[in-house]
Amino acid sequence: PPTGQALIWRDRANALIAEGLIDGRGLVEGQRVKAVAEETFECRSPIDGRLLTPVARGRQADIDLAVGSARRAFDDGRWAGQAPAARKRVLQRFAELIVQHKDELALLETLDMGKPIQHSLGVDVPAAARCIAWYAEAIDKVYDEIAPTGRNALALIQREPVGVVGAIVPWNYPMIMAAWKLGPALAAGNSVVLKPSEKSPLTALRLGELALKAGLPEGVLNVVPGFGMEAGEALALHLDVDALGFTGSTRVGRKMLEYAGRSNLKRVFNELGGKSAFVVFDDSDALERAAQTVAGSIFFNQGESCNAPSRLLVHERIADDFVGRVLAQTPNYQPADPLDPSTVMGALVDEAQLRTVLGYIEAGHKEGARCVAGGTQARAETGGFYVTPTVFDGVRNDMLIAKEEIFGPVLSVIRFKDEAEAVALANQSSYGLQASVWSSHIDRAHRVARALRAGTVHVNQYDEDDITVPFGGVKQSGNGRDKSLHALDKYTELKTTWIRI
Ligand code: NAD
Repeated sequence: PPTGQALIWRDRANALIAEGLIDGRGLVEGQRVKAVAEETFECRSPIDGRLLTPVARGRQADIDLAVGSARRAFDDGRWAGQAPAARKRVLQRFAELIVQHKDELALLETLDMGKPIQHSLGVDVPAAARCIAWYAEAIDKVYDEIAPTGRNALALIQREPVGVVGAIVPWNYPMIMAAWKLGPALAAGNSVVLKPSEKSPLTALRLGELALKAGLPEGVLNVVPGFGMEAGEALALHLDVDALGFTGSTRVGRKMLEYAGRSNLKRVFNELGGKSAFVVFDDSDALERAAQTVAGSIFFNQGESCNAPSRLLVHERIADDFVGRVLAQTPNYQPADPLDPSTVMGALVDEAQLRTVLGYIEAGHKEGARCVAGGTQARAETGGFYVTPTVFDGVRNDMLIAKEEIFGPVLSVIRFKDEAEAVALANQSSYGLQASVWSSHIDRAHRVARALRAGTVHVNQYDEDDITVPFGGVKQSGNGRDKSLHALDKYTELKTTWIRI
């Protein structure tokens, strides 16, 4: 039974649920609305399987209303027509409201997707607020350009909002993923229709309400919960959506490009999966920190992170020692009650994800990898979906557990004999999101960092991250970049105006 602080969060959760305070209705034209067909789906907590609320099941008709509302809001200039400094003030208030509602948002996030409350409070809410605040701060400091033309002509190169942005986001960081789309898209003056994941729709809906409260005009942000093949497909195919910001799996990212091709060639920005390599050389003088870092990063968020360093590449000479150090970390990551503030590993998002992760663990055994830690379901008696921190040694890069994104707390250890093999193995992946190289030689660190095909390479660390730097991948990890000023490029078009003078 929960004690102390866990009891306080449990009581708060009980009150929220029992009093029916969780609102699963959509947000269209500034109103909380049922689905047009009045259908709902159940939103259950992966912590214990408990029903949180019915959620509006959006379909084509709901998307049509939301896109129509966003289009009207865009065309009449109620937002795009405001001066950047005015948009900035509204978005700053939005960020402040996120901070003011941090306990409520963190609790919803934890109940909805199972991550530990200490992370929802300490990572997700602050990151979402900082993202919105950062784009608010930036937008009145971005200047347009004048081209270097001849005497009798002036050519202005201006950024204009693209219009209506469709944002489709995954369940693993529901609030942060929504904020990474909303921050730059709204700051640039667009209207947005946001489709959160059916597995974790609650905080996106609440964010929509807070944006309204902050003064965002009605219709500028609409949130339509629903399934991928229903609301998601309708949004991605919609003829009146100008750009799609998608974060999710590579499988669905492929479909996004098809949808654009079949409809209006809307711009598609894909932020997709990963199988990031964490490369440890025998000349590293930071092996203990490297072991702590790889464990902390692969087990963070239950392994449900696109940039999880799920392939540990380690030089054969230090491999036994290094794996030993990693194994010494695993007791720190045992799954426990996500509502207990001391918990660092929570529940997987749902039963399907649990089955997927256990399926990969079985595949690892079958392919001959050695499971040296975990590999089991945990806390089944709670009715929730937990897996122990798992490490497979003796993995080959062509095994399923090294090739495919597991999206669970499973680390695959692959040994290499020299630098060339390390680089080749790291790059032998259809993904290219992130990578990490550990070496005490500056020449090797730079050489390998340069050779690794990834959107982000970390040297002698993995956890630095900030809204100021772009986030995205190469190869089948996607083509877009979230965060930083570069994200504004996705949600703006360049327009040239020639003037004879
Ligand atoms: P997913 O692709 O199954 O779903 C993502 C979103 O797309 C959801 O909202 C879903 O409802 C919707 N969707 C599903 N099928 C659709 C369809 N046919 N048409 C339109 N919409 C559809 O991904 P997921 O399981 O929610 O999320 C996990 C994936 O997200 C992982 O692959 C992870 O690596 C990736 N991810 C990437 C980043 C990044 O920045 N690169 C960040 C977080 C997560």
